[in-house]
Amino acid sequence: MRSQALIFLGAPGAGKGTQAREVSKHFSIPQISTGDMLREALRNQTPLGLAAKAKMDAGELVPDEVVCGIVGERIVQPDCERGFILDGFPRTLAQAECLESMLQAQGKGCPLVFDIKVDQDLLMKRLTGRRTCSVCGEIYNIYFNPPKVEGVCDKDGGKLVQRADDREETIRQRLLAYEKQTSPLTGYYRRKGLLQEVDGNREPASIANELIDFLGKA
Ligand SMILES: [Zn+2]
Repeated sequence: MRSQALIFLGAPGAGKGTQAREVSKHFSIPQISTGDMLREALRNQTPLGLAAKAKMDAGELVPDEVVCGIVGERIVQPDCERGFILDGFPRTLAQAECLESMLQAQGKGCPLVFDIKVDQDLLMKRLTGRRTCSVCGEIYNIYFNPPKVEGVCDKDGGKLVQRADDREETIRQRLLAYEKQTSPLTGYYRRKGLLQEVDGNREPASIANELIDFLGKA
């Protein structure tokens, strides 16, 4: 694989976390999450970490330039030399532009962006079908991975519940919010020819094989 920044986009339920993990494992490249980076910057009390903390303590969003600065500090680490996966970044156009100038400054090429597309119906089934055991936390899906007895955990007989997050109305809103937030980004990367659409309506293993194969040749 060419040393490169990889970005995975995909709606909630599209499986981008799973795919990012598989690619990270296969190529032994770090998967960097903005959340982890923020926590690390806070732990190390870097100036950017402190700036982020001040905003969060005030109940505000961490501004783009702070998030970018933290990403910038992380991706110059030696373990990123052979490439890395960004998780949860960029979220805005400003962050995408900032990422590009950082990569350029480091003599690295443009990022490669995978957009994992899943049909709306399937996404809804994946998300609204989730049931969680109230005893052990085991997760089932009434469409794809049902328990042997409806409403009951296979392992301990615990009652299966639908979390508030997984209710249809909440899910619709989350999907709409994702679409609204991400469409400028996908548009931006598509225009630059950096966007690879991935058919996410398939078994996770077959998607992972395709991505690994593609990156191996890239
Ligand atoms: Zn259980």
